[in-house]
Amino acid sequence: MLPSLLSVNNIQVNFQFNKIMKSQKCIRRKKGSIRIDIISAVPQLLESPLNYSIVQRAKEKGLVYIQVHNIRDYATGKYKKIDDYNYGGDAGMVLMVEPIYKIITKLKRERKYDEIIFLSPDGQTFNQQCANSLSLCKNLILLCGHYKGIDYRIREHLITKEISIGDYVLSGGEIAAAAITDTIVRLIPGAISDETSALTDSFQNSLLEGPIYTRPAVFKGWKVPDILLSGNHKKISEWQEEQAIKRTRALRPDLLK
Ligand code: SAH
Repeated sequence: MLPSLLSVNNIQVNFQFNKIMKSQKCIRRKKGSIRIDIISAVPQLLESPLNYSIVQRAKEKGLVYIQVHNIRDYATGKYKKIDDYNYGGDAGMVLMVEPIYKIITKLKRERKYDEIIFLSPDGQTFNQQCANSLSLCKNLILLCGHYKGIDYRIREHLITKEISIGDYVLSGGEIAAAAITDTIVRLIPGAISDETSALTDSFQNSLLEGPIYTRPAVFKGWKVPDILLSGNHKKISEWQEEQAIKRTRALRPDLLK
């Protein structure tokens, strides 16, 4: 972690990050890579989000190393049990403390983790600023709950941060872990072809993105704004900024406060 960078706003964090990665010739594992260990009871749920498109290409380029750990591999006993009834009798099975303890302590022996994160509906709500901070980390653990959740002792003794992806309840933390991983990965310099593109996305610099278009310039009489075809880059970027502010004012005025 680079804590001094975390106090500044989103966009500076990113610019700083890019600058540091360039100046240090990306001394992390390979080109500023991040290691993300995801702990799950149903790793199959993570297969497609982590093995295609930008995340897959980032893995191939060595920018991110993602290791998924199956909780069942750490279960003991004849039946490899990973969940049990909820003390107190409420409905829903609870993931047991021991297998998760074993994975986390094993990983912690191997390297130092910046954060050990539990995905939980009652955690801090995930947003771009949180993603920016996490993208500066070197090693992260994302622990996914399932069924009713996990034994609270894990949260009390091993977790350093709890994140929710919104005020609704998923069946498991895997979709949340995939969303967070994807958001972090696209911020790593080199993960998307035009590095600056992630910086012009919505929520960076507290603005939503303005309208975007591609060819053809006219489709069924629907025209792309003339300014974008003018070739005047200064005017185009002024127009884009104006549009971003206009859309933000209309759709998310809270971001401008
Ligand atoms: N009984 C829990 C919900 C369990 S849902 C409660 O009432 O809070 C099962 C698992 O899905 C959770 O342990 C968590 O890891 C994951 N999960 C569900 N909703 C989530 C959300 N909004 N954000 C992040 N993780 C979530």
